[in-house]
Amino acid sequence: MKVTCPHCKSKITAKDIKNINKNRIFIEKQCPSCKEWFCLNKTLTIIKIIGVFLLLITSLLNIFNIKSQYSLVFSSIGFVGILVSVIITFFGKNEAIKK
Ligand SMILES: [Zn+2]
Repeated sequence: MKVTCPHCKSKITAKDIKNINKNRIFIEKQCPSCKEWFCLNKTLTIIKIIGVFLLLITSLLNIFNIKSQYSLVFSSIGFVGILVSVIITFFGKNEAIKK
């Protein structure tokens, strides 16, 4: 798997990345050529959080019977949200194993 550094635009193979910072919300990787830190999974992480929030909000709307005529729509949106989150979580795990 090759990635492009957002700073110097050089192509990096995943195994060339030696330094990984997991102490932040987003996992950061250091580019071996320009030493800049960048994040590959930022978009995925954001989508994952949105997915969880979608489920949370739509569930709350259903529980409190707000706009109950749309409850089926809310359930569907919530389901799609959690489905996306689960898929992304699995992708994230796969990437972590490969390094
Ligand atoms: Zn770079």
